[in-house]
Amino acid sequence: MKYVLVLLDGGGDRPDANGNTPLSLANKPNIDMLAANGMVGLLDIGYGKDVDSDFGFFTILGYAKDEYPGRGYLEALGANLQPKDDAICIRGNFATLDGNGVLIDRRAGRDNTGLESLVEAVDGMEIDGITFRIVKSAGHRVVMVLEDRRLTDGVLSNDPRVVNVPLPEVKPKDDAGKFTASLLNKFVRKAHQVLQKHAVNAKRECPANVILIRSVGKKRPVQSFQERFGLTGCCIAGIPIADGVARYLGMDVIKLPGSTGYPDTNWDAKVAAAITALGKYDLVWLHINALDILAHDKKRVEKTAYVKKIDDGIGRIIKAAGKDTAYILVPDHKTVSLPDFGKYEHVADPVPVCISGPGIKPNGVGKYDEQSAERGFKLEKHALLGFVLSLARHGGQ
Ligand SMILES: [Zn+2]
Repeated sequence: MKYVLVLLDGGGDRPDANGNTPLSLANKPNIDMLAANGMVGLLDIGYGKDVDSDFGFFTILGYAKDEYPGRGYLEALGANLQPKDDAICIRGNFATLDGNGVLIDRRAGRDNTGLESLVEAVDGMEIDGITFRIVKSAGHRVVMVLEDRRLTDGVLSNDPRVVNVPLPEVKPKDDAGKFTASLLNKFVRKAHQVLQKHAVNAKRECPANVILIRSVGKKRPVQSFQERFGLTGCCIAGIPIADGVARYLGMDVIKLPGSTGYPDTNWDAKVAAAITALGKYDLVWLHINALDILAHDKKRVEKTAYVKKIDDGIGRIIKAAGKDTAYILVPDHKTVSLPDFGKYEHVADPVPVCISGPGIKPNGVGKYDEQSAERGFKLEKHALLGFVLSLARHGGQ
C-alpha cells in the first residue's frame, strides 16, 4: 500500500452565521468521492497555548510530545544548517523597541524590507567565545545556531506575547540554564545596539531593532519514520519548517522551484512531483500552505476557492496513482478567516480528517468538513498514522 498525506495547513475553519466553512462550501468532487468511500472523523492534536504548525506536523506524523525537539532545532534543519548534536538552535523574531526599551511590535510590522542586511550585520557576532550563526527564515523570523558544551536549551523565551511592556530578560529554567540565559541576554543587548544604528532601520517605518528569543531547541535522539512505521517517506512542501520536520524524522525532502508556501505556489509542479514520488516512496507527504495564508489575510472567499484548486490536483494524483493507494486529508490546525473568532489566527480545535483507500470501509459520515466530521471517529494526539496503517493492513483486503 502507498499513502498520500495531504496536509492542508490551516485548512480547517470556524463556521459563519449560516454554519458554513470554506471546506463545507468548496466545490471539491474528488475530496467528496474520497469521503463518500472512506472514513471521516476528528483529530485532537492536543496543542497547549501555542498552536504551531511544526508541532502539528510532528504529531500528525505519529510522534509524541516528549519526542519534540523544539521549533528552533526544526527551523535550523529546515534552513539546512546541519547543527551539530550538542548545538542549541533558536527561533527568533525581528521586533521593535522604542527609545525606552518598550516592546512596541513583536514582528517589526511584518515588514521584510532590508532584513537580509540586518541579519548580515549580526551574523557571526561573538560573545563569551561563542559564535552566533544566524540566518533569515520565513518573513520576520530568524534561526540561530550556537555550538558550545556549556549551552543548554533550559531557558525561557523573552517574548512577553503582548506589546507596550518593557522587554523581559531571557530566564533560565534551572541552574544549568544560567550561562545560556546570560549569554542570550548579552546577545539581545549587543544586537540591539548594532541594529539600532543600521542604515536599513532609518528607512523602515517599524525598525527591526531587536531580536526576540522565541524558542530554544536541541537535538533529541528520535526513531526515524521508517524505523517506526516501516515506510519510506518524502516531503513536498513550500515552507522550510515542514522540510525541517521531515529531515528530523529521516524523510527525504523534495525541493521544487516556484514552491513558495503562498497561494502563488507552483501547485501543478507539486502535484506532478507527488505522482513521481509515489513510484519511489511508500508515503508522500504533500504539504499545502496557501489556505493558512489566505485565512491570516482575511480572504475567506479565496480560501474556499483554493480548496477547488487542491481538489483538482488530488484528482490528478488519484488518476495517476495505483489502486493500492490510500489518502489521508488533514489540516494541522484551523486558521480562522472570520473576524469574530480567533482574530484570523490559529485555533486549537480538533481538525477534520478523511482516510480513504482500498480496504478502508466507509463509516457513514460521507462528507469532509468540520461539522460532518463530528459524526465520525475521534482520535487524539499522535494516533492518526497508526490508526490509518491498522485500517489499511487489516481493513478486510
Ligand atoms: Zn499550520
